[in-house]
Amino acid sequence: MDTRTFGRRAFLGGSAVSALALAQARATAGEAGGTDETFAFEITRSDEDWRAMLSRDEYVVLRKGSTELPKSNPLWNNTAEGTYCCRGCDLTVFDSVWKVELDKGWLFFRQSVENAVLMGIDGQPPDGMAPEDERYGALIEAHCRRCGSHLGHILTVEGKTLHCINGTSLQFRPTLA
Ligand SMILES: [Zn+2]
Repeated sequence: MDTRTFGRRAFLGGSAVSALALAQARATAGEAGGTDETFAFEITRSDEDWRAMLSRDEYVVLRKGSTELPKSNPLWNNTAEGTYCCRGCDLTVFDSVWKVELDKGWLFFRQSVENAVLMGIDGQPPDGMAPEDERYGALIEAHCRRCGSHLGHILTVEGKTLHCINGTSLQFRPTLA
């Protein structure tokens, strides 16, 4: 059973974290033993609503933080020009110009759209990675700033710090010629 809740995350500052979100996260983190309700996502839905709007695979990735199997989503090696939106709320989160093609089976981006992605410490390694595997240390989770849906992780891959994103979490919008 997954008992993680987004509201209890300690958000970290990052290039794409807004000052407002950061201030809210600090307020949340600073309340020793207090409530953690000071941070609210702009879009919230009941668990029932999430289940109704997402497929089962999408639900476990976006809402339970699972990681899709490599190369299971066709977007992983999509090279078309366009933007990538959060499947949970349509917020534009990545642009194809920042995509890095790596033969690993997920999407990699050098950066996100400004103020689109929040980061949190993920206590669990991605599916298939052993918790004791020190290479992964404390993982940084990337999730949508507007609806909180899990997008993927921020990892160091081949010497570069990149967003490693599930295709399941995204919708691609091709640039119209
Ligand atoms: Zn979203």
